[in-house]
Amino acid sequence: MTTNAQAFSRAVLAWFDEYGRKHLPWQQQISSYRVWISEIMLQQTQVSTVIPYFERFMQRFPAVEQLAAADEDEVLHLWTGLGYYARARNLHKAAKQIVSAGEFPKGQNALEQLPGIGRSTAGAISAIAQGERAAILDGNVKRVLCRYQAIDGWPGQTSVTKQLWQLAEQCTPDQRFADYTQAMMDLGATLCTRSKPQCERCPLQQDCIAHRGGTQTEYPNRKPASQKPLRHTRMLMLVNEQGNVLLHKRPPTGIWGGLWSLPELNADTDPVEHAALHWQLQINEAEIWQNFVHTFSHYQLQITPLKSLLARPAHSIMEQGSWLWYNMQHPQELGLAAPVKKLLQRLSDQLQIGYRPRPLTITQEFSMSRTVHCLKLNKDAPGLALPPYPGAKGQWIFDNICEEAWKQWQDHQTRLINEKQLSMMNPDDRKYLTGQMDKFFSGEEFDQAEGYVPEQK
Ligand code: SF4
Repeated sequence: MTTNAQAFSRAVLAWFDEYGRKHLPWQQQISSYRVWISEIMLQQTQVSTVIPYFERFMQRFPAVEQLAAADEDEVLHLWTGLGYYARARNLHKAAKQIVSAGEFPKGQNALEQLPGIGRSTAGAISAIAQGERAAILDGNVKRVLCRYQAIDGWPGQTSVTKQLWQLAEQCTPDQRFADYTQAMMDLGATLCTRSKPQCERCPLQQDCIAHRGGTQTEYPNRKPASQKPLRHTRMLMLVNEQGNVLLHKRPPTGIWGGLWSLPELNADTDPVEHAALHWQLQINEAEIWQNFVHTFSHYQLQITPLKSLLARPAHSIMEQGSWLWYNMQHPQELGLAAPVKKLLQRLSDQLQIGYRPRPLTITQEFSMSRTVHCLKLNKDAPGLALPPYPGAKGQWIFDNICEEAWKQWQDHQTRLINEKQLSMMNPDDRKYLTGQMDKFFSGEEFDQAEGYVPEQK
């Protein structure tokens, strides 16, 4: 262990002695079995939620033998509300393996062989219950170490994970492993939190590189956005003798569902032949415009615009059902796909038509596909159709929170309201819920409600 690593663990242990949690149920009558159950329950679930589940579980299955002998339905029943039921199934399976082996496996490597136990969980059981020096690297510890050393790169990358494990091993002291393990988990959960680390109270602040540089929230680095596939299409702007453009209504499902759009052609389709064959229209050779890219949540669409004029007046009836000649001087109130609106504007500029799309009603405007980089889930995902309520906060949610995360909050809010018997008529209750919502979206610890199902990572 280097001097720096010694200083690190000394500071963490001194902090733990004063502020660490020492009265949690699994910190009493410590055994491999009890620590194992608590560690599995605590995966992606907060301490306050886990405590009642742990106590009920221990009452019914005080030792691994009772768990192994239980019916799986009963195990799952006691797990109901904690989510991630694979954790409960693996516990049950592992309990049977332990009982048939005749003893609880000892040491990080042996523990890792059991279903549902990864290296970090095995390290925690080993260090806390078996008196063996073993490192842990759960999400909380990763965050602390990434910030302390300003480690660049996404922790899911093999090279970064390897670096973090090395550091975790180095920092683990040669004695008091159990306290150190608990201390690191506590530090990450209570001080070095995701969005608002309380560095002023942190025992590591003096040497923490991210703290010194004021870059705490940049670490751990986010997962790099994956490259979206690029697809291609060509959009035909066919203009008739009145300067109107041919549009068609898209099917109700799929991209731009139900919106009006320009006809699309494959790369190898000749527009002149296509118009004659499918629309009985004679059109001039198409002019190719500069292409551009439109981004969807899962792919990018490269659009090559083609412009053509009718060579002869149209005799075929186009204005039926899903087709119309769109009047750019006196536009109808239609929902237009976003790139189509852009192209119509350019076309009218070129034709010198005073095109001003009619303002759409808010529902039409926002029903168009939009994606946000969701701060809560840290991924690109479909955004809300409208701000959930007026004002700056509603706008902030609209800009930064995706539909999926908003739904998660609404479900959680419902549980909080039911469990705490809150009333939206009561200003204090409303204030409490707003505070909880801020914490929920910013990654700070928020109050759990019985039956809360943690978000999938
Ligand atoms: S000083 Fe701040 S950023 Fe650094 S480990 Fe402590 S709480 Fe985290």
